[in-house]
Amino acid sequence: MKIRSDTDLSKAVAAAGIRAVPRPVESAANQGSAGRESAPAREGAAAKYGSAARDAGSARDSTVDRDGAFERSISTSRPTTVPAQAIDLSLNVVSHGKLTWRTVLAWLREDKMVSAEDIERTARRFAGGNSAQHPLVRIGSAGLTRVGDGKVLDTETLTEWLAKRSNLPYMRVDPLKVDVGRVADVMSIQYAERRHALPLIFGLTDVTIATCEPLDVAWVSEIEAHTRRHVKLVFVNPIEIARYTTEFYALSRSVRNATKMGESAALANFEQLVELGKSNKQLDANDSGVIQVVDWLWQYAFDQRASDIHLEPRRERSVIRFRIDGVMHTVYQLPPGVMSAMVARVKLLGRMDVIERRRPLDGRIKVRNPAGDEVEMRLSTLPTAFGEKMVMRIFDPDTTVKTLESLGFGNHDGRRWEELVARPHGIILVTGPTGSGKTTTLYSTLRRLATDEVNVCTIEDPIEMIQPAFNQTQVQTGIDLGFTEGLRALMRQDPDIIMVGEIRDLPTADMAIQASLTGHLVFSTLHTNDSASAITRLNDLGVAPYLIGSTLIGVLAQRLVRTLCPACKVPDPDVTRDTLHEVVKPWRLNGGVRPYKAVGCLECRMTGFRGRAGLFELLTVSDAARSTIQPVCDEGKLRQQALQDGLRPLRLAGAMKVAEGVTTLDEVLRATPAWE
Ligand SMILES: [Zn+2]
Repeated sequence: MKIRSDTDLSKAVAAAGIRAVPRPVESAANQGSAGRESAPAREGAAAKYGSAARDAGSARDSTVDRDGAFERSISTSRPTTVPAQAIDLSLNVVSHGKLTWRTVLAWLREDKMVSAEDIERTARRFAGGNSAQHPLVRIGSAGLTRVGDGKVLDTETLTEWLAKRSNLPYMRVDPLKVDVGRVADVMSIQYAERRHALPLIFGLTDVTIATCEPLDVAWVSEIEAHTRRHVKLVFVNPIEIARYTTEFYALSRSVRNATKMGESAALANFEQLVELGKSNKQLDANDSGVIQVVDWLWQYAFDQRASDIHLEPRRERSVIRFRIDGVMHTVYQLPPGVMSAMVARVKLLGRMDVIERRRPLDGRIKVRNPAGDEVEMRLSTLPTAFGEKMVMRIFDPDTTVKTLESLGFGNHDGRRWEELVARPHGIILVTGPTGSGKTTTLYSTLRRLATDEVNVCTIEDPIEMIQPAFNQTQVQTGIDLGFTEGLRALMRQDPDIIMVGEIRDLPTADMAIQASLTGHLVFSTLHTNDSASAITRLNDLGVAPYLIGSTLIGVLAQRLVRTLCPACKVPDPDVTRDTLHEVVKPWRLNGGVRPYKAVGCLECRMTGFRGRAGLFELLTVSDAARSTIQPVCDEGKLRQQALQDGLRPLRLAGAMKVAEGVTTLDEVLRATPAWE
């Protein structure tokens, strides 16, 4: 995919350096004194809350905006000289206009954040050369450390400090929370770049705007008049402001262009869209606006670690949503015409039939992520009342090379699983509901088994991910190539290891048993709650117990739980060893119990969770277990025997992850069945 060029940071920040022009005298005067202390700074920031001072100054201010030269001519910069203790380099505090490094250094000294020597050294260095960087960026890269704890004062830390000093809420931008389509309604990109301001949140009565210039706030009243909303300022890292200003405005322009061109196509009825599609009188999938929006969408989804992208047409505004760690997040709303063009664009790239909009279609596509890795996506469309809905499932390129540990296997079960899959023949089943990670476990296991010496064949519905080391076949019901037929054909292909996507019926089960009896290792999945009930399920399908007993060698039950965000989790005193023992009775946990709970930060989109891990329950069919299956399957006895053979139930596996502080008890209770 084409990635838009990275943030033109230098350009945006350059604006800062050049415009170290103080505000006109009126606003400064109204803000009180122009003394050297920090008080004016705080007042300056406080002026945003709609003080009379700003309103008085605003008339002048708008004039000024139209004519920068005029502003310069009337500007009365009144840099007060610093007191005697400042040695050769005057760190003058300017109480209005853009921040300067001198002002920031003076404040750092005043707040005793940095040692006097460090301040002096930095001032000397900075005075020697010009820089277009924002003072927080420049000082943030100077390697200063905080007096006391020695913490490095990077731009983010300085931002947090200055926010507090300016009495403004400190914030980090969460791009998913920003209604990007509306940034341009609040201010133009030129205005935003000049002010170092970026609109973020649009309320009914107020609009939240990011700034990194606490002294330059006289423009607020203009925006309040223009938007008829109260402006709430928040303090944001200048690097983030510059980056997102470029990104948000580029995107909003793309959407606007696409909307303009697509207005004629913005029809609610998908039948009409089909007609339009046929006559080509619609928004073109190759339109540059559409191309950009689709590129942005993918980039964004990769950045946010989304597993699925949903494009959902609605009557008024169509919706883009991401699934991240199992939870859906609305990302963007846009006109239906634009969405249908986006869907068309993706279909085009995925070599799907762009004209066909009445039938569900599927396809796949490979794009390159910013890291340079190829990311594969499975595409599927479904006609809905308002147009084609599309879901893009993103496959993590690392999925098939995951280690047992990163899948979530503990030592005990990891070792037993390795032993099991090293057997030359037999049937191994992975069970669990949809979305429990069965495919990932199977793929990464097969990937390790697929050496040059063996032939690994699969029959799948659908092929979730192309893996060059396997021979993969897709079930095609249209031409009577089901699991059974596919498996039969595949058996003639001299396989060693076979994966059958799912055993749904007796013929498929019979074929799998045939394959196992003729010396193959067969992997498949079943929809059952736990490992032992897989045997009952096979029995219910009509497989004779003696055939199950002679071919089945193991069943792995699996669930996924969300893992706690390492950046923000905190110890949870409410979950004790006793709590966990109550949950896993009659087992007991040895070793340390250090449960954590979810908090929420920007890293994890305030959910408190980041990523997911598998919980496993592995039943191995020993000779003793086999005797409980045939001649008639006794599930109770089988469970007892399985425990003796080393099985640890799902819930116990979960409780161990709680004790390790990897996930929470609620997650485990939600995901795992109780042990009977
Ligand atoms: Zn977090």
